[in-house]
Amino acid sequence: MKFPIFETKIKGGVDELRSSPHFASARVFDLNNPRQRKEYFNLKAGREIKKLREYFKKGNTFIAYLLGKKNSGKGTYAKMFAEVVDSQRVEHFSIGDMVREIDKELKNKKKREELFSFLKNNYRGWTSADKLISALKKRSTKTLLPTELILALVKREIEKKKKRTLFIDGFPRDLDQINFTLFFRDLIGYRYDPDLFVLIDVPERVIDERIKFRRVCPKCQTSRNFKLLPTSKIDYQPKEKKFYLLCDNPKCSEFRMVPKEGDEKGIKPIRERLKKDEKLMELAYNLYGIPKVLLRNSVPKKLAGIYIDDYEITPAYYYQWDKKSEKVMVREKPWVVLDDENESSYSLLPPPVVVSLIKQIVKVLNL
Ligand SMILES: [Zn+2]
Repeated sequence: MKFPIFETKIKGGVDELRSSPHFASARVFDLNNPRQRKEYFNLKAGREIKKLREYFKKGNTFIAYLLGKKNSGKGTYAKMFAEVVDSQRVEHFSIGDMVREIDKELKNKKKREELFSFLKNNYRGWTSADKLISALKKRSTKTLLPTELILALVKREIEKKKKRTLFIDGFPRDLDQINFTLFFRDLIGYRYDPDLFVLIDVPERVIDERIKFRRVCPKCQTSRNFKLLPTSKIDYQPKEKKFYLLCDNPKCSEFRMVPKEGDEKGIKPIRERLKKDEKLMELAYNLYGIPKVLLRNSVPKKLAGIYIDDYEITPAYYYQWDKKSEKVMVREKPWVVLDDENESSYSLLPPPVVVSLIKQIVKVLNL
């Protein structure tokens, strides 16, 4: 599967730009800075963002199913879309988070009774509700829940909320679940609103490095990346000659961030899962009748100059200790990574991918 490269570069020489409203594009944006990111989105997708806001304001919604390999950035893109377009009316809805909440509910007697009575009234499937409930009670967090149960639980969540646009993350998860998405919106009362697939293509080597260099705050669990997404504070230990990211969550303190156990193995332990995710994407890609949005994380190096602006590329960070000033110097260089066809490529930062998401959705919705 190869997705087309989406062009986010703004064309034209400086003279042309000066006389156009795009003159601001001659500047470079720091996409990690929230204020500059906002200006960036205004410049590159302002018209489309306005259209979407009007669409939501009129009470319209849609359902998007996010499909991509584990760690492909599904949550990041959906949350950024919501942040940029309308955080009141758009939501990233993670099935994994929902199931974790249910595990908590099962421990609370009153909430457990509420859940069971909901299931008795609303669940349809091949296992009796009573059987299901006793399985739920005994369940370990590792066992997958049957699809019919997931559907009933999703329905319950959506009824709790007001009418919202959802980016569903984690469903369909298995090949058989693809069929359910075909009538899913009827099931939950979104009958007249469109639904679509959002397929995300990320090279496996990008996923590998995202895992290998991941660092987590032991206190608040904030997750960053030593090589690709550092915090604003870096610590140096002269004895070990080692650099550490320090947590910069304003609600936390400056804890040293650490790797999670097993992360050093990268994608090795999840190879089977990645294969299954790929098959799932292929199946969705070939399905007729449901619109698809194709997102691509990487751009071949030799084509980058035509399609993207330099500041849209994910840099690789490295660190140096300056003895004189006794300070850590944070350096960056372009990060070149081989894509799944072994082509030297750049990986895009999330904002340009979200520009592509916004523009493709506007097209799908005919706005
Ligand atoms: Zn923290």
